[in-house]
Amino acid sequence: MRYQKLAATLLVAMLAACGKPEQAEPPAEPAKTPGLTSADADQFIAGINDDLRKKLPFLSAAQWVQSTYITDDTELLASTANEQWLEYLGKQVEESKKFNTVDMSASAARSMLLLKLSTAMPPPSNDAKRAELAKIASRMEASYGSAKWCRTVAGKDECLNLNQIEKILNDPRQSPQARAEAWAGWHATAKPIRKDYQRFVELTNEGAKEMGFADTGEMWRAGYDMSPAAFEQETDRLWTQVKPLYEELHCYVRGKLNARYGDAVVPKNGPIPAQLLGNMWAQQWSNIYDQVEPYKGVRSVDVTPVLKKQRDEELRKLLAAFKGAPTPMQRADLEHQADAAESVRMTKIAEDFYTSIGFPPLPKSFYEKSMLLRPRDREVVCHASAWDMDMKGDVRIKMCMEPDAETLETIHHELGHIYYDLMYNPLQPLFQNAAHDGFHEAIGDTITLSLTPAHLAKVGLGTAQKEDPKATINTQMRLALDKIAFLPFGKLIDQWRWKVFSGEIAPGQYNEGWWKLREQYQGISPPLPRSEDDFDPGAKYHVPGNTPYTRYFLSFIIQFQFQKALCDAAGFKGPLYECDIYGNKDAGRKYMEMLSAGASRPWQDTLEKLTGTRQMSADAIIEYFAPLMAYLQQQNTNQSCGWEPAVEKPSTAPVAKQ
Ligand SMILES: [Zn+2]
Repeated sequence: MRYQKLAATLLVAMLAACGKPEQAEPPAEPAKTPGLTSADADQFIAGINDDLRKKLPFLSAAQWVQSTYITDDTELLASTANEQWLEYLGKQVEESKKFNTVDMSASAARSMLLLKLSTAMPPPSNDAKRAELAKIASRMEASYGSAKWCRTVAGKDECLNLNQIEKILNDPRQSPQARAEAWAGWHATAKPIRKDYQRFVELTNEGAKEMGFADTGEMWRAGYDMSPAAFEQETDRLWTQVKPLYEELHCYVRGKLNARYGDAVVPKNGPIPAQLLGNMWAQQWSNIYDQVEPYKGVRSVDVTPVLKKQRDEELRKLLAAFKGAPTPMQRADLEHQADAAESVRMTKIAEDFYTSIGFPPLPKSFYEKSMLLRPRDREVVCHASAWDMDMKGDVRIKMCMEPDAETLETIHHELGHIYYDLMYNPLQPLFQNAAHDGFHEAIGDTITLSLTPAHLAKVGLGTAQKEDPKATINTQMRLALDKIAFLPFGKLIDQWRWKVFSGEIAPGQYNEGWWKLREQYQGISPPLPRSEDDFDPGAKYHVPGNTPYTRYFLSFIIQFQFQKALCDAAGFKGPLYECDIYGNKDAGRKYMEMLSAGASRPWQDTLEKLTGTRQMSADAIIEYFAPLMAYLQQQNTNQSCGWEPAVEKPSTAPVAKQ
């Protein structure tokens, strides 16, 4: 569910129209750069916008073929295009500094700042160091992408990739010990990244300092139309709002796991061992829904069987139309055709939601050029992503769809990115981005909140059910295992990186600092003792891939805030979790208005137009889950919630060599 449009990869952070991130006291009367005027600034920005229109399509094309046709050749094309782009960007940022003290229009000032904050990896100006940084970045990414856990089973050597390791980890029939080994196997693959990461931090910090920031973390926090310090407080405030909900969920899930595995594996009052939550990073827990289902046998909606049936029906038709008995090869072709038809059908289900509220149909080229299915003849990057190729309508999705509920949700998510692109395409390139990066991730997720049981029944993906409070609790539990369980994880990744960039967590404490935060926020513990020989943060893609993560934390909170505003616009009166805005043009109009503003103004203005408030708020997510919260509190009455520090604290494990 990554958004992988170039402009977004590069233009990751947003800022205020009216100013720069708050730094040291500015001089009362800044000295004017002689000779340069506001008109020069406008001209400089216009030049960059022209360049972006010319350069980005080439870069997108190079990256698209690399991702959908992995060979040495396409890798060379993409990395060359990338290098040229970074060099161009570096030059323009350097050039823009001469306008630092020029009085200019609000629009030009905002554009200058967007340019400056346009990379999450600020490069040092020194050529050798910039080259070293680029090399380290691609080495870390490659190391993660090709990581394997090798082991010997019954005298046979085998090497497993992440998908294969996850199958062991997420299999409830595997013993806690076997799952701990799988967990450790994957995490061991990150050890070699540690040294590179340390150097990466030094180099980007140098780049950030050259731009006037204290460190890279401060630069990331500067992209939210408020001072970096104020933004940090905002994230704390939001976390404080949702923490009670997370703690009740944690307590309930731990109780269930304790009953299943016993005190020796899951202590009653301690953190939960990370390998038992159905996810490599314990970030979303819906895989263990069956183990914690509140009302056994009361159906919560699951569209997977319906989608699988549709796909099988398609295959049946193809086979019936086939003359004679197909050879195995022909049969494989027909299967692939059935998969392709189902992936298009699922995409159209998602598209239909957007058009029902007034969005335009997807351009014809979307279906011609997207990669919706894993090709059978070549290696591709399957990780779902949305692409804006040329800033004028060539939008695409790259993913490997399966006929299941998770994919249906993902396609709604990715189309959120696509429609954001289409809505802000008329703006100048520097403004073609989300109000802030959390907005981009929240657009499609907001739509999925309308996929209520009643909605799914209406569109033929579920069966009509009569109102049943038990089914509501089951449905909410399934959703909370993803949406609520994720919140502390979404926050702590950057909590750790901010501290690493600032030096508060020194290189000798990378892993200890990581586990302190994991325990503090998530209440989970490592399955096996850890030491500074390990580099567990590196086992999560976004760390070696250097993608800021707070956007996801924000997205998971504001998508409920968006939904509430859209439901109000639609005149919906019932409980928020029953609201479905399908077909409502009033809600759609407000949503499109928000998307069309792109990054052209501070996100507070954009949020206010939709919701009437200038502050992000967790009120809506709390309101949404009110029935579940009441259920959890009642279930937890006799439990002692919260967690004591783990018996074997990571920090007491022996500290090995660096
Ligand atoms: Zn996304």
